[in-house]
Amino acid sequence: MAAAAVTGWYGPLIDLSRAASHVGDFVQLLVLVRHYPSHPIQVKFRASNRGAMHRTLIQIGDNTRAFFCLSIANNHLGSTMHAGDVVLLQNVKLARYAEVFEAVATQISSVQVLIHSCQLVSMIGVDELIACCKVGINTREKLKKVVEWAHKTESLLRSIKQVPYHNGKQSTKNWKSQEENKSRNCTSVSEVLCLTESCKINFLACIGEIILQSQRPHEVVKNKLLLGKRLLRKADSIVEDIICTGCTRCGCPINSRLLDGMEFPLYCQNSGDYHHSVSFIYQPLLLYVWDHSKHITLLVRNKAAEMLFGNITAEDVYKCFEVVKLDALRKQEPRPNDGGPLYSEIPNGTESTNGSQQLECRKVAKHTDYTKKLDSYSIWLLLIKLLLHNENSPFKFEVSVNLETDKDSGRFELVSLTMPHYVADGG
Ligand SMILES: [Zn+2]
Repeated sequence: MAAAAVTGWYGPLIDLSRAASHVGDFVQLLVLVRHYPSHPIQVKFRASNRGAMHRTLIQIGDNTRAFFCLSIANNHLGSTMHAGDVVLLQNVKLARYAEVFEAVATQISSVQVLIHSCQLVSMIGVDELIACCKVGINTREKLKKVVEWAHKTESLLRSIKQVPYHNGKQSTKNWKSQEENKSRNCTSVSEVLCLTESCKINFLACIGEIILQSQRPHEVVKNKLLLGKRLLRKADSIVEDIICTGCTRCGCPINSRLLDGMEFPLYCQNSGDYHHSVSFIYQPLLLYVWDHSKHITLLVRNKAAEMLFGNITAEDVYKCFEVVKLDALRKQEPRPNDGGPLYSEIPNGTESTNGSQQLECRKVAKHTDYTKKLDSYSIWLLLIKLLLHNENSPFKFEVSVNLETDKDSGRFELVSLTMPHYVADGG
């Protein structure tokens, strides 16, 4: 995009997709403010000994790049824009940290709100919306593309509509205690990692890996199993790695080795009558998730794991898996000369079968309910493969943050997850 001829611009108006070519330069950006955090994060400058300062990380996007980060230290600058506004960011500097690009507001930066969020969601025609904006030709072209992109992306508009507005300004509420129970939205994983108080949060991230503690310690390095790698090698054995006996309510495994040195608690904290409900459970897993800024490990206990695995319970998976195993065993056995099945039609206790075969027959009879049901085991296995697929869209995670707990023991614990619905993205 060519440099726009407007006085006071220290660089060209560029698409976000071209940020890499302008690192270190001043540029003009015409973007949609996707998310504006309610609390600034504290950034510490250890090397320069300048102490700590607050910066607000704002999520922006345009028709060429859906997610980008704007970092501002100037509260006045930030107070002029809200989530859902289409803004012209003038004279911001592009920076690069490792593989992450960021726009940084400096003392000569300014913000011009071109279209307010309430106008954007009113579904007025694009031409009508931009008609009253006094901008140059290049800027108008870019504005049109950004507005069309925002209108096409249904999930974007939906999230903007949820922001309460009053007379064009974000309304402030006085229901503090009620607000505290609500989940707070975080723009990025790096914002989650910088939280200074325990709370519940929502953020978008991609699933990288599912990590579990092995029940066969001699098999793995550092006693941790990467499920993705294991799926490629021994898909059949992951049921026994991931499912154990424990309390379905609090997710505590009975096997003390999986409790990381702790004892199985006497009372259940997730039950009104303090009684554990013992059955098959998903043992506590670690979910490695990431976004453009950082990665984070979430603790996933039984109930959250059920949500992760499409509401399939550990008991359903385990019992279906047993049936699959027995079926495979029966197929391996020699058949009589007439070719009919040997064991499945023989009643319990018949003389022609030996003891172990009788036991297998009883197991088959016991699990006929599970053979009639959907094959939860195969569906579950397929779901895990899909979850670990590299090219998935981000999931929306609801996580409870407990800063008093160690990172691997539940500082960030998964509460729920949903898959946001993207209709169209890009110009
Ligand atoms: Zn319990």
